[in-house]
Amino acid sequence: MLQIKEVKKAYQVGDFKQVALNGISVSFRKNEFVAIVGQSGSGKTTTLNIIGGLDRYDSGDIIIKGKSTKDFKDPDWDAYRNNSIGFVFQNYNLINHITVLDNVEMGMTLSGLPSKQRRKRAIEVLDRVGLKDHMYKRPNQLSGGQMQRVAIARALSNNPEIIMADEPTGALDSQTSIQIMELIKEIAQDKLVILVTHNIHIAEQYANRIITMSDGNIVKDTNPYVIDSDYKTEYKLTKTSMSFKQALNLSFNNLKTKLGRALITAFAGSIGIIGVGLVLSLSNGLNQEINSLETGTLSDFPLTISESPMYMQMRPGRYPGMDENTEGEFPTGNELVITDSSENSFLHYNKLTDDYVEYVSNIDPTLYNDVSYGTSLSMNLLIEVEEDVVSKVQTNQIGWSELPNNTDFIFDNYDILEGAYPTNKNQLLLVVDSYNTIDIQFLTALGISDSEGTLDFSEFVGMEFRIVPNDDYYVYSDITSLYNITTDLLTAYNSPDAISLSISGIARVKQDANGTILNEGIGYLSELTTDVMTNASTSDIALAQVASDTSVMTGLPLTEAAKRSELRRLGALETPNSIRIYPVDFNTKNEIKTYLDSYNDDMDEGFEIYYLDLAETITDTVGTLIDTITYVLVAFSAISLVVSSIMIGIITYVSVLERTKEIGILRALGARKKDISRVFNAETILIGLTAGAMGVFIAWILTFPINKIIGNLVEEMDAIAKFSSVAMLSLIAISVVLTLFSGLIPSRIAAKKDPVEALRSE
Ligand code: ADP
Ligand code: MG
Repeated sequence: MLQIKEVKKAYQVGDFKQVALNGISVSFRKNEFVAIVGQSGSGKTTTLNIIGGLDRYDSGDIIIKGKSTKDFKDPDWDAYRNNSIGFVFQNYNLINHITVLDNVEMGMTLSGLPSKQRRKRAIEVLDRVGLKDHMYKRPNQLSGGQMQRVAIARALSNNPEIIMADEPTGALDSQTSIQIMELIKEIAQDKLVILVTHNIHIAEQYANRIITMSDGNIVKDTNPYVIDSDYKTEYKLTKTSMSFKQALNLSFNNLKTKLGRALITAFAGSIGIIGVGLVLSLSNGLNQEINSLETGTLSDFPLTISESPMYMQMRPGRYPGMDENTEGEFPTGNELVITDSSENSFLHYNKLTDDYVEYVSNIDPTLYNDVSYGTSLSMNLLIEVEEDVVSKVQTNQIGWSELPNNTDFIFDNYDILEGAYPTNKNQLLLVVDSYNTIDIQFLTALGISDSEGTLDFSEFVGMEFRIVPNDDYYVYSDITSLYNITTDLLTAYNSPDAISLSISGIARVKQDANGTILNEGIGYLSELTTDVMTNASTSDIALAQVASDTSVMTGLPLTEAAKRSELRRLGALETPNSIRIYPVDFNTKNEIKTYLDSYNDDMDEGFEIYYLDLAETITDTVGTLIDTITYVLVAFSAISLVVSSIMIGIITYVSVLERTKEIGILRALGARKKDISRVFNAETILIGLTAGAMGVFIAWILTFPINKIIGNLVEEMDAIAKFSSVAMLSLIAISVVLTLFSGLIPSRIAAKKDPVEALRSE
């Protein structure tokens, strides 16, 4: 069954070689009760450990069922211990943080037995050693004799062929010792039991073979067994392995026993996570704030292309003697660089063409909220202030402007306070500011003069106007050969060609609007512009002005630009003189700008068309500032993450030291090195998970007071810290990965521990 051949073992102690086994040879029967006796230090334990596969022999051979172990690798020995050997130690060697039942099941778990079978078998053996009633206790709740019974039950659980007991009664009183020895004797009826004892009386009373050792040699054998020849059989081993779930379970129970410390560790580990979490949620919120600020600001300051003169400044890189790369660098020479400022800046007139308007109309509509065209077309607006009394309305006093076509954006961002949004060209919209104020000039322009304090909405909804065609509004004087505005406004007002208008509703920007695109005052639909323009373009005065280089109203000569503006006013030039583009946000604004810039690539000098971007400088600066602050803060918190990772590494190492005994026990039961590192990786993962969850939770809680404080300081920022769920999950993952990483070295140290030494530790 088991044959030991010339086995030698020596331990290196410093420079000194301590011989423990001096070449022993002995064979064992399949079923016998062998006692090994001898003085302390004679090599009994070493023999047992080597036969049991816990320790390695230096030379010789152990033949198990005819199979040499010379070529055994670590996993073979692990499987051998697990399948064939049951150890019983003097100091019991039970894992204290799991139940008696779990202790007994451990060896079967390692050999991969299904849990139901494990449970059944464990209860069976616990019943056999008389401890069935104590199976849910922890080992340290039992007496010494009971603990040794648990150890015996564990040794029996995998139904091994060999039971190895090293001084099993050494720590027990004589009465208990007898009970334990009786139990072992009973077991020995159908197994090979090798018992190490220094008590010769016990050996003589229970064993049927006594081997005496002295100084690493076998000096006496009362019942030697000689195997005739080296017979060979197939010896198969079930390889052991611990599932990750089992490792987690073991570590979880271990952490539970030192819950306070585990939580403090996790809390310490969570501090870095809290820091990063807060920085991320703050910068997330700030960026959202900036984004909405950008949309808001951009909507208030659209990209503007107009025919008004622009003062163009060249970029520094285009100064003489400098190239793009020297931008921002101070010259090092001792010469003054002469420049001509008049060459570096110049006055530019955009001349909008139909081509350009066409080009603008091809901008991807998803990039902007609205594009509006200013025509400067003068609409002859009249109002009947009282019965048969008609007066002109100064359109510039009432914010007379065309409504944007993007009604979706308007309905999303504006409330209709009264009436309805215009649905046809005869309807007008009154747009008020956030505080419902209306300027006195506005009222005067409408001929309302006797009001003070407030006015009812109903005074405005339904208010009527008319637009009179140029031919009714301007009269030609044969005397001066010039056109004048008619003095008979009432007749003009009652012209059959006049367009009737009425205010259909009142709108106001919403408090949480993404932007404002309506001008305050009275707005009309673009259909009205088209209508008026069509009519005006064929009017007498318009045609006369097209044909003349002097003003048909004043007789004074006109420059080219002045004539264009006069033609626009009279409706004879349809090309708009200003375009406003309201981008959706910062990014789309840049896309639009790139698109507009590229128009100039094909243009001759002087014919380029430039836009104005008032919002640019503001948002650029703020955006960069926020990014910089975020980077700095994240870097700081990252340092605390690194520090907490190192700390978790150290704590894991301490845990390895503390659990050395457990490592030895697991190895004795057949756990592989891999399984041991798995146990500690499971522990770090649990800590990392707790630290991550704790950190995320605390950071999330902290966002509330932070928002409150910032909200008190800056009124509009009442929810600036926004912790996104993506950030939460990522941080937990980062925490797990970091702690796992920091525990890798300690867990490898654990895996490499020598099982015999590990068992000996306290
Ligand atoms: P016993 O169990 O009979 O008391 P051991 O087998 O434990 O004896 O020890 C045999 C000899 O080997 C002793 O001299 C002991 O000091 C030595 N020895 C055992 N284990 C080690 C070790 N890990 N390192 C050094 N010497 C050891
Ligand atoms: Mg010993």
